[in-house]
Amino acid sequence: MSNIKALGIDIGSTTAKIVAIDESGQMTWHLLEQAEPRLEAQVERFLEQARGAAGPLAGIPLIATGYGRRLVRQATRQVTEISCHARGIYHEFAHGGTLVDIGGQDSKVIAINADGKVLDFVMNDKCSAGTGRFLENTASRLQVPLERLGAEALSVTEETSISSTCTVFAESEVISLIANGVPLAAILRGLHRALARRITAMIRVVGLVPPLMLSGGVAQNAAIQRMLEQETGEKVLLPRYPQLVGAHGAALVALEE
Ligand code: ADP
Repeated sequence: MSNIKALGIDIGSTTAKIVAIDESGQMTWHLLEQAEPRLEAQVERFLEQARGAAGPLAGIPLIATGYGRRLVRQATRQVTEISCHARGIYHEFAHGGTLVDIGGQDSKVIAINADGKVLDFVMNDKCSAGTGRFLENTASRLQVPLERLGAEALSVTEETSISSTCTVFAESEVISLIANGVPLAAILRGLHRALARRITAMIRVVGLVPPLMLSGGVAQNAAIQRMLEQETGEKVLLPRYPQLVGAHGAALVALEE
């Protein structure tokens, strides 16, 4: 694969991703791993693998984005996640709308105009209850694999309301519900509803301009997709690789430069 024209790297709080694109901006190669404490070593390994796939990287621009972008010293430049997500999603759909990105430790809502420009955005990186971490914590506590979480929640109609607005308290609440014999799936449904409502409140702050698009790791969760549709009344559009939108956008910015 020698047609790499640009690279984008997205160091999130939970996962690290690298994307390579060709001259038309199409994704030709990518890697995704859990983010490691030694990020510099992980980035070096990513680039080594890119070299293995594409040959020497000299002259190939690299843009870094995400929460750990400043640690990517090999990057030509660092660009914010907001710009890169907007760029990535616009390349895929070629229209504006409202992008919701739900990652491991942050979530964001970005309003994008018909030309792909960012009109407005809101970001939550202060409260884990509005992020993937909220589901991850309960998934491990309830011993349900993360990939099964959404399907389990959608397997029932009964829904238990979760009143705690904090991840740690929600965990205690879940334990006491289980002890009181409430079915697991109904609890899971309630947890997904709580997250979907928090995200919908963020969408309202920015103002929903359809269509609604969803990215980030949590976009793979079918219950979150469904409940966001229920809460907003809008159909959710999913990109092909929801977790790679930021890294793809970074590579597209690199290609333009
Ligand atoms: P970040 O960019 O902030 O590091 P990601 O966008 O990679 O985070 O999202 C990580 C989150 O995605 C995890 O916290 C988890 O909740 C969720 N997730 C990852 N894989 C899956 C999956 N297969 N099904 C459902 N949720 C997932």
